[in-house]
Amino acid sequence: AATATPRRLSPRAAASPTEGDARWGDTSSYGAKKKHRVFCQLPNGDWALCTVITTSGDESVVKVSEGKVLRLKTECLQPANPEILDGVDDLMQLSYLSEPSVLYNLQYRYSKDMIYTKAGPVLVAVNPFKKVSLYGNEYIDAYRNKSMDSPHVYAIADAALCEMKRDEVNQSIIISGESGAGKTETAKIAMQYLASLGGGSGIEYEILQTNPILEAFGNAKTLRNDNSSRFGKLIEIHFSTTGRICGAMIQTFLLEKSRVVQCAVGERSYHIFYQLCAGAPASLKEKLNLKKVDGYKYLKQSCCYSIAGVDDAQMFRTVTQAMNIVHISKEDQESVFAMVSAVLWLGDVSFTVIDNENHVEIIVDEASKTVSELLGCSIEDLNLALSKRHMKVNNENIVQKLTLAQATDTRDALAKSVYASLFEWLVEQINKSLSVGKRRTGRSISILDIYGFESFDKNSFEQFCINYANERLQQHFNRHLFKLEQEEYVEDGIDWAKVDFEDNQDCLSLFEKKPLGLLSLLDEESTFPNATDLTFANKLKQHLDSNSCFRGERGKAFAVRHYAGEVAYDTSGFLEKNRDLLHMDSIQLLAKCKTSLPKMFASKMLVQSDNSMSVPYRSSAADSQKLSVAMKFKGQLFQLMQRLESTTPHFIRCIKPNNLQLPAIYEQGLVLQQLKCCGVLEVVRISRSGYPTRMTHQKFARRYGFLLEDVASQDPLSVSVAILHQFNILPEMYQVGYTKLFFRTGQIGNLEDTRNRT
Ligand code: ATP
Ligand code: MG
Repeated sequence: AATATPRRLSPRAAASPTEGDARWGDTSSYGAKKKHRVFCQLPNGDWALCTVITTSGDESVVKVSEGKVLRLKTECLQPANPEILDGVDDLMQLSYLSEPSVLYNLQYRYSKDMIYTKAGPVLVAVNPFKKVSLYGNEYIDAYRNKSMDSPHVYAIADAALCEMKRDEVNQSIIISGESGAGKTETAKIAMQYLASLGGGSGIEYEILQTNPILEAFGNAKTLRNDNSSRFGKLIEIHFSTTGRICGAMIQTFLLEKSRVVQCAVGERSYHIFYQLCAGAPASLKEKLNLKKVDGYKYLKQSCCYSIAGVDDAQMFRTVTQAMNIVHISKEDQESVFAMVSAVLWLGDVSFTVIDNENHVEIIVDEASKTVSELLGCSIEDLNLALSKRHMKVNNENIVQKLTLAQATDTRDALAKSVYASLFEWLVEQINKSLSVGKRRTGRSISILDIYGFESFDKNSFEQFCINYANERLQQHFNRHLFKLEQEEYVEDGIDWAKVDFEDNQDCLSLFEKKPLGLLSLLDEESTFPNATDLTFANKLKQHLDSNSCFRGERGKAFAVRHYAGEVAYDTSGFLEKNRDLLHMDSIQLLAKCKTSLPKMFASKMLVQSDNSMSVPYRSSAADSQKLSVAMKFKGQLFQLMQRLESTTPHFIRCIKPNNLQLPAIYEQGLVLQQLKCCGVLEVVRISRSGYPTRMTHQKFARRYGFLLEDVASQDPLSVSVAILHQFNILPEMYQVGYTKLFFRTGQIGNLEDTRNRT
């Protein structure tokens, strides 16, 4: 029974008995007629469904649904679909596929808590921002035994599972969308389905328990999302030959380290800081010398300590229980929390100026004492690492005293790297616990939950990396869909006429080309000690100005034409963030510590710097030499793409209907912009530029056969061909396949009109 899944394209193949003029944005050719359902654009830009009352010349009078009457230019109207197509569960079924019809269809469904809709092979998920009763065992069973087939994450997970077994090919579920759109929740829902169907060994429970741990250490409240993932994540779930889950492996990408030492007003640092302070039992509080959250400088700067509806103390217990389940020992847990506390206290370490050159020493107080105790080093060592720098100049060892600003930066860099190392270490422990080596068959389903395309008023290094990753994923998406189209044509034996689709290779090359691409130039500039963000920006302008995807802007800015739109980047901080320096003195401090975790962190950092000796990037003499952040990310991304290439992908695009994180508010403009960014409208466009309407010979003959003037044969194929001839459908407008007729857009409309008149 498992092999009986329909091909992913089948919903569309059966779709669209009728066709409208669906050229995007082209309204001029639309002749509004009385009583027609149309969309009109209101002054605020939203589209409203209305009915034409009268139309004369280029002006029309329309009635908006609530009864209001408007007079406007006929060219501002766009045709709406007939009522029977309201809320169809696949956008491909819409006769008119214009932007307003797509927006209206999603909104119609959203208002009825049908948050999932297909766009051909892609699942669109609109965040409900409230509990919807679409989940749980009853639903899981319904999708398992195929008694339910409306679009759902469960259906996607089920397809992945079935295709994995049927085709013996690894699968991937690729979830994208902007912050707060629901990627992480969607990933968890998919995991729950897989765990439920592939469960039995108990390991599935462990896998689910990795979520609260990673969320505690890698998620934070931001202005966009109270539980925003500040890292990308791929979880590969392994299955045995009998289809049971037998292990998993997690890979994480680019944790936002800067949040540990700096975060905007109204946001929070990572959840674990607040959870630990609120939820640690008294003995642990004492041992780690924990204060209240508002006592720490790192946490104080954003003036935000709690999240509405979240009990941090309770979450702390959930997290420690989850840690128990993934076999992180009580002892290790305590070491982990000691590091969390050490990071908090590091923020409170302060300095005193000791000479008139602004050189400093750390102040010996509760903060510095606690940090050295938690790390297991002496105060002298801590002072040395934070106030001095050892360098080798012309083979001579010299010691440089640090100024207040330098010492503060060094302290923050240490806090960031301890935290990032801790995160990495946790992922490693989880992976150890989840890897059940021997029983693997090599079949897997991977779920990718990764930050979507970002474009803010000010875009920095983080957006640069994130958007680069999205550019890669978009290419994967395009090529896959393109391939699917092609396969269906070839399978049915029709001429494969080239469907034009926009490849984003040019933009990717702008990033990746060597030596004159954005990433190479960034790395090159990062090696020059005297380089600044301005010299970097100038260098880009000098070498890339002729590239069509690049635009130099004034001063330190430049813009990239991404597939999702143009983004202006401000190079401030690019070089420093890319170098991500941790000075050798800090690494040596960690290596000297008597506790186990700092030692481990240090040895990892040293290995990393050894491995990257061949990389052109070198910082000044005694600094640790390691891969730049952008290069490391690029490497991870290539590895990720390689992994995904060998899988059958399933795409989920999450949409955030409002910026308020509130239910029942659907902002059209916001939704439209996301549909464009995550390529949903593009999928529709790609499909439309080929032969989007398909109908089996039988169905076609049944539907239009009675229109034939003289009937010579009963054979569906002959009847179909006779109809095509009688209605003078131009040869370039259709193709006859083995099983189906394929039509270009707008071809069936005429037939359908005749049929309705008859
Ligand atoms: P980020 O990129 O910031 O990590 P995200 O896309 O992962 O964002 P989520 O954290 O998954 O977003 O979702 C944000 C919030 O939206 C959730 O905390 C939850 O309140 C709500 N939400 C998302 N999906 C659902 C759903 N299917 N049912 C109910 N609530 C949901
Ligand atoms: Mg998330």
